[in-house]
Amino acid sequence: MDLDPTMLRSMIVRGTERIVANADELCALDRAIGDGDHGTNMKRGLQAVLAKAEDIAALPAGEALNMIGRTLVMTVGGASGPLYGSFFLAAGAAIAGGRRLPEDLVDVVAAGVEAVGARGRSTAGEKTMLDVLIPVLDTLRAEAGQPGLIAQVKATARESTERTAPMIATKGRAAYLGPRSVGHVDPGARSSCLMVEAVCDILEESL
Ligand code: ADP
Ligand code: MG
Repeated sequence: MDLDPTMLRSMIVRGTERIVANADELCALDRAIGDGDHGTNMKRGLQAVLAKAEDIAALPAGEALNMIGRTLVMTVGGASGPLYGSFFLAAGAAIAGGRRLPEDLVDVVAAGVEAVGARGRSTAGEKTMLDVLIPVLDTLRAEAGQPGLIAQVKATARESTERTAPMIATKGRAAYLGPRSVGHVDPGARSSCLMVEAVCDILEESL
């Protein structure tokens, strides 16, 4: 399996649907510990990617991920735009540099996660999108080749999202609240979860 164009297009469609359907929830989460725009930002970004879905799906995998990254950087805005953009730009660069899908999936995702951490100067435990992306990467690594991989990844995404609630934010806008950020799920963790679930759903449906 390379990034099959039909599958990639389906992932973009599903990912956009999930973000649009949950945009109000993402805004509400961001109102609690940020400025309330995360759902609006992500909806704008995913809809821009969706508008280019045909062009993106026609590209080789590395270029497709690169175009998704550039589109997100240009359209999402906020802190999350450059961070999600970095993920896809670095994942695309890993493929352009010779990594292949699905064989090197772990390395490709690792490149994306590393780029988010480098761009955000952030790591696990700071109540950000990385608190979903890093556990998802860990599960991919631990469960690679296992039959229950996709279900495990989805469970990890959901559970790690919930685990951001008791964390104290030390990065992004929520860090201004310090201990008052406790008790709320991080909006970027939730949007990461929605996109991971969308990708997993399409993979499950195509098996
Ligand atoms: P803004 O905070 O500029 O309004 P968004 O609301 O779109 O941007 O995105 C906020 C999300 O971005 C947070 O919930 C968090 O997950 C993520 N985020 C913010 N700063 C960082 C960072 N330094 N590293 C990783 N993720 C971050
Ligand atoms: Mg915000």
